[in-house]
Amino acid sequence: MMRRAVLGVTERSVTRRMVTGTRPGRALARRFVAGETLEEAVEAAKELNAAGMKVSLDYLGEHVDVIDEAEAATQSYLECIAAIKDTGIDANISVKLTQLGMGLDDDVARSNLDRLAVAGLDAGCTVTVDMEESDFTETTIQIFETVQTERGNLGIALQAYLHRTADDLERIMPAGGHIRLCKGAYAEPDSIAFQGHAVDSAFDDLAETLMANGMAMPAIATHDDARIAPVLDAVEDREGPWEFQMLYGVRRDRQEELVAEGHQVRVYVPYGDAWYPYLTRRLAERPANVKFFLRALVGG
Ligand SMILES: Cc1cc2nc3c(=O)[nH]c(=O)nc-3n(C[C@H](O)[C@H](O)[C@H](O)COP(=O)(O)OP(=O)(O)OC[C@H]3O[C@@H](n4cnc5c(N)ncnc54)[C@H](O)[C@@H]3O)c2cc1C
Repeated sequence: MMRRAVLGVTERSVTRRMVTGTRPGRALARRFVAGETLEEAVEAAKELNAAGMKVSLDYLGEHVDVIDEAEAATQSYLECIAAIKDTGIDANISVKLTQLGMGLDDDVARSNLDRLAVAGLDAGCTVTVDMEESDFTETTIQIFETVQTERGNLGIALQAYLHRTADDLERIMPAGGHIRLCKGAYAEPDSIAFQGHAVDSAFDDLAETLMANGMAMPAIATHDDARIAPVLDAVEDREGPWEFQMLYGVRRDRQEELVAEGHQVRVYVPYGDAWYPYLTRRLAERPANVKFFLRALVGG
């Protein structure tokens, strides 16, 4: 499978050096990443807000090696929330729990998420918990449930490719907040995840359930027109807010069209210098991106 092949190659350190250490590699990253600093991310957010879109800021990083790094990431997110408050941009944050310490010390990760939720309440913004590899799904949901019950301003991503997600959706909806439905970006085995078009069917079923439900706010995260169409059909029956979400640098034309049609669109804006793993997932989603990179590498 293409995704597995690309992620297998990009995990090798030689590939990492080739991408992070070359101009074409960094140029490709720049298409999907707003910049390395918070200031650049805020500028990107202002530009998107001006185009009628909301933003979710993602300070890049995942799987920290020591708990000090989790603290540093938490501090960076607190600065990000302070910038949202100070600049008045229409943004929330997206965060990976392995970046806050999950896997090293889950209590620390929960406490760090709680600090972000509290700061978010003060700034009037929500906090979305990204979903990572399947080893972490259950812990991610448990940490989300604990902090959401206490603070009430969280959201969580669910991956349509996992067999367990239909049950997770029923479990999570009563907690309220927003639920970001995405296909799933990691290489997961057949034993626990749908593959190929089965992911699309699962996505459509989950989107239907989510849009029909009044407890949680649906955030439909896809660039796939065939997934967007049934959601637009369901809109008339939808009571309460919902939104589309798309990634920075992916299908900007479609983002603008949806705004012009009167829909709420939130763009996920990553920033920071730890962009390599994020970039590899974007490459694995679309083989054309890999070809583009290889051509640039050979050409220059
Ligand atoms: C806002 C947001 C948040 C996300 N959060 C998570 C998360 O927390 N956990 C997780 O596992 N996954 C997350 N994802 C990624 C998601 O799981 C998919 O891997 C990704 O969105 C591609 O799937 P798709 O639905 O866009 O459909 P696809 O069928 O992959 O793409 C449909 C079309 O969109 C365009 N497209 C899609 N991806 C790219 C790309 N990288 N480059 C260029 N064009 C592209 C192409 O035109 C393609 O034909 C998120 C996605 C979004 C939009």
